[in-house]
This record gives sequence, structure tokens and C-alpha cells, in this order.
Amino acid sequence: MALIVQKYGGTSVGSPERIGNVAKRVARWQAQGHQVVVVVSAMSGETNRLIALAKEIQPNPDPRELDVVIATGEQVTIGLLCMALKEQGLKAKSYTGAQVRVLTDSAHTKARILEIDERNMRADLDAGAVVVVAGFQGVDANGNITTLGRGGSDTTGVALAAALRADECQIYTDVDGVYTTDPRIVPEARRLPTITFEEMFEMASLGSKVLQIRSVEFAGKYKVKLRVLSSFQDEGEGTLITFEEDNKMEQPVITGIAFNRDEAKLTVLGVPDRPGIAYQILGPIAEANVDVDMIIQNVGHDGLTDFSFTVNRAEFERAKQVLEGVKAHIGARAIEGDNKMAKVSVVGVGMRSHPGVASRMFRTLAEEGINIQMISTSEIKISVAIDEKYLELAVRVLHKVFELDQAQ
Ligand code: ADP
Ligand code: ASP
Ligand code: MG
Repeated sequence: MALIVQKYGGTSVGSPERIGNVAKRVARWQAQGHQVVVVVSAMSGETNRLIALAKEIQPNPDPRELDVVIATGEQVTIGLLCMALKEQGLKAKSYTGAQVRVLTDSAHTKARILEIDERNMRADLDAGAVVVVAGFQGVDANGNITTLGRGGSDTTGVALAAALRADECQIYTDVDGVYTTDPRIVPEARRLPTITFEEMFEMASLGSKVLQIRSVEFAGKYKVKLRVLSSFQDEGEGTLITFEEDNKMEQPVITGIAFNRDEAKLTVLGVPDRPGIAYQILGPIAEANVDVDMIIQNVGHDGLTDFSFTVNRAEFERAKQVLEGVKAHIGARAIEGDNKMAKVSVVGVGMRSHPGVASRMFRTLAEEGINIQMISTSEIKISVAIDEKYLELAVRVLHKVFELDQAQ
């Protein structure tokens, strides 16, 4: 007998019929003698609908109240799924995040899980019930409802699996695993039977929305056995996130390509090229709680230099205002911005033993006439910032040139 945590995303619970199918799958696992905890997202489109509704009332919604509103999506699906399970003749009990006591910090709309009380869930499981938990939500020490950021139900799933020391956490979604890149952009993308934790972490942090980055972080920290699977297929191994590199097989050079559309670039032109200038520019940006991603400082001429960095597109205006505010103080000539940027990254542990990945990537983009505006690298990834209009083209040609469409 194993303890399994299964998480079902929005599309997988998008209609009464699909909720019924989830109930049938859960029933099959339970019939095999396993204990099952199910984490569900809101029905597809629901969280977006709730955010839009909130913005109609308050263009910049109050974060605490926004969490009160958007946490309701998941509350609907836990109730509905429990009803469907009861229709299958199973015992089932729903829990909101607060009812479990998924304790988080108080950072509304992007809260972090601090602690999970597993006692009530454990008692229900031991009594033969299926436990159904609302993803994406928690409660802070003062009893305020919090949410974990978009895609946060993945993190609820993995965190519960860690707290319950589950044998496996299964993420059921609308694709049958983790692919070499988003199959919606490149139809030739292939499912990866396994991917290393490190690679999955990079892919998620560089924009592959198949798993929320924090869920991968949790899996790494607590060594949760994590698998991504299709909720629309009955068979299939999906993709297992592994903690050891497979040394038996020849490593491919690149494992996958991630991309992110929501990038924006800011450039501070003609600042004095002196020690401390990066701090004078980025200090106020950090104080405004804007995350900076890539950074470039150009070679100075005549004592002046240009300084560029990228931020999430949603924070572009705020970052620009901050820079306008400090422009005179730092002695900059002008502030420029471009909020139609995208980032494409190639990821793979094979890069450690195969030199030349960067040059191959840059040559391929050059041959397509795609200008690289910024570059950043780590041991197992290379990212470039490009004009958003070339994003899909860049992903496709890179997927081909690194032979990701070929069976390994
Ligand atoms: P859910 O609602 O189940 O959480 P998401 O939409 O959050 O599902 O994540 C699944 C989607 O992630 C897929 O439909 C796919 O378009 C996208 N995706 C992006 N990159 C990848 C990748 N490398 N492999 C698989 N899916 C990916
Ligand atoms: N419903 C939330 C969202 O749409 C959480 C999730 O689906 O994981 O972001
Ligand atoms: Mg998701």
C-alpha cells in the first residue's frame, strides 16, 4: 500500500464530466489499495475570470481582498470532486487550505508555505477516506487567506506529499509529461521519460509553466518522487523527475528549450562610469520590489556608459517610474524601455561535457536574422533576450538544430 498525492490542473477539472473522470481515476487507485490525497486547481479559466472581476472593481486590487476572491475557485472544485467521489461510492472529505492548515507567510498573491499540519488528513486516510485539498491557497499566522502565485496548486501538491512523506506525487495535466519544449509551439516536441531535478528547476524558472518553480524547489528540498502525467490518458509513464543523472546513456547536449514572453528591457543611457553606479540604479529597483533578471553594462566611452536590465513585463511601468525618479540623481542622459521582449533558453546537464553550445545557439539565431539583445548563462543553461516577435521562430529553429525532435 502506498500513499499517493495526485494533483489535477484546471483543464483536468474543467467540466462536470472531467471531474467525474478524475473521480474514476482516484477510485481505481484506491481500489488497488492505495491511500490517495487529491489536490485540485480551479476549473480552467476560473482564476482568470476572478482576477478580471476584481480588476473591474479596483484596477489595482487590494492584495488581501484579491486573495479572498481568487481562493474561491479551488473551493468550488474540492466540493464538486468530493461529490463525484461519493457518487463512485467512496468516502471523501474536502479541505480548504486553511482547514488543513497550510500555514504560509503573509505575502498575499505570492505566499510561501511554511508548515503543513498533516494530522487531520492522516486520520481521514486511515479511516479509508479520500482527502481532497484545495490547491493554490493557505492561511497566514493571523488567519488571513493567502494564495501561492499562479500555478500554485503544483506547489500545494508537492508540499503535501512532502508533509505526508507520500510515496509519489503525481501531477496530472493536459499533456502526458514534460516535453523538450512546449508542444503547443513546436508540434515535433518529444516527451522526456525522465528529466533531472536540476534541469526541471531551470526549465520551470525560465518559463516552462508545466510545473510551478516552487513545486520543483519543494521536490528537491524534500526529495519528493515527482511525476507529470496526462489526466486524459489511462496509460503512460509520464515524466519522472530524477535526482541522479543517468550515466548509462550518452547525455544529449540539450534536454529542453524554455521560453518566457513576459519580458521587458530598461536601459539607462549615458550614466557616469564610476564605482557604485550599478547599485545606484538597481538599489531603488530592488526597494520597489521589482525582480531584475538579466543585466548588461556596456563598455564605457568618455567616462559614460549605458546600463540595461530586464524585468517582468507586468513590472515594466513601475520600474520605469523608479528610474525616472532617480535619473537626475545618478546623472543619466535618458531612460529607454522596450516591453515587447522575450527570453529563450536552452537547458541541459549535457552542456557541462559538450562545449560549443553557445556558439551553435548564436549562429542559429544569426542565420535567421534574430538579434540577440542580452545573454546570460549558467553551468546548464544559456538564455538570450530577443524581440518578442521572433520568439516562436527562435524556439523552432533551436529545437531543430539541437535535434530535440529526434529520438535519443
Ligand atoms: P495545469 O492547468 O494542469 O496546471 P498548465 O497549463 O499549468 O496545466 O501546464 C501545462 C501546460 O504547460 C501544457 O499544456 C503546455 O502547453 C505547457 N508547457 C510549457 N512547456 C512545457 C513543456 N516543456 N512540456 C510540457 N508542457 C509544457
Ligand atoms: N488556479 C490557480 C491558477 O490558475 C492555481 C493553479 O491552477 O495551479 O493559477
Ligand atoms: Mg499549472
